[in-house]
Amino acid sequence: MSHRQNIVTIDGPSGVGKSTISRRVAQALSFTYLDTGAMYRAVGLKLKDAGLAKGDDESALRQCLDTISLDLFPAAEGSDDVGVILDGRDVSQEIRSPEMSMIASRVSALPVVREKLTHMQQEIGKKGEIVAEGRDTGTVVFPGAAWKFYLDAAPEVRMQRRAKQLRSKGESVDEEELLEMIIKRDRDDQARSIAPLCKAKDALLIDTGGLTIEEVTAAMLEVIRKEFSRVGS
Ligand code: C5P
Repeated sequence: MSHRQNIVTIDGPSGVGKSTISRRVAQALSFTYLDTGAMYRAVGLKLKDAGLAKGDDESALRQCLDTISLDLFPAAEGSDDVGVILDGRDVSQEIRSPEMSMIASRVSALPVVREKLTHMQQEIGKKGEIVAEGRDTGTVVFPGAAWKFYLDAAPEVRMQRRAKQLRSKGESVDEEELLEMIIKRDRDDQARSIAPLCKAKDALLIDTGGLTIEEVTAAMLEVIRKEFSRVGS
């Protein structure tokens, strides 16, 4: 195991509890939490504002991405969501809307976008001590990570969790529409040709459906700590 990277990867579909769990696992290990979804959301916003979200103009896309400045900062008190500064502007709230979820998913299928963000994520991960969360962190970004997890749960369960999250921010929720969006986003994420959402062969699958956040976190930490002493950085 000593050749493996000192990195935890947590992948899975939307609304499965990844962000909260990743943040807690990172805190417990004193690792840095890397929310790769936040990066796709920020790029989605940048491309939308530039009128390039359709992705049909590759050279304009490349040019636009070449100038991007992206900084992630820890979640504010009482929030689960990592903050994002995009080109000097705090877009933390803006990128979390259901509309931006769909745009992020759309632009995340563009090869140029994936190339750019995968590279940025690998640079961030070079020093190790990272908990990376997303769709392809165990399969593509950090295939050599020491600990890989894939979280899943039924779409209905995930919709209810997302609805609760949105309501806690004071937003109104149409459950049927939200469920449809979740199913569509997962289907698109699983069906794209590059870096589709799927479980890495060596990832541990956890169905979070009947479990609390605390239970999932504890189970993951137990697995990680069992191997910890055997993993080099
Ligand atoms: O995790 P989150 O819901 O913030 O991700 C938003 C979208 O970004 C996902 O639906 C997915 O299309 C894309 N994404 C991705 N690869 C990742 C993380 C997110 O394609 N590693």
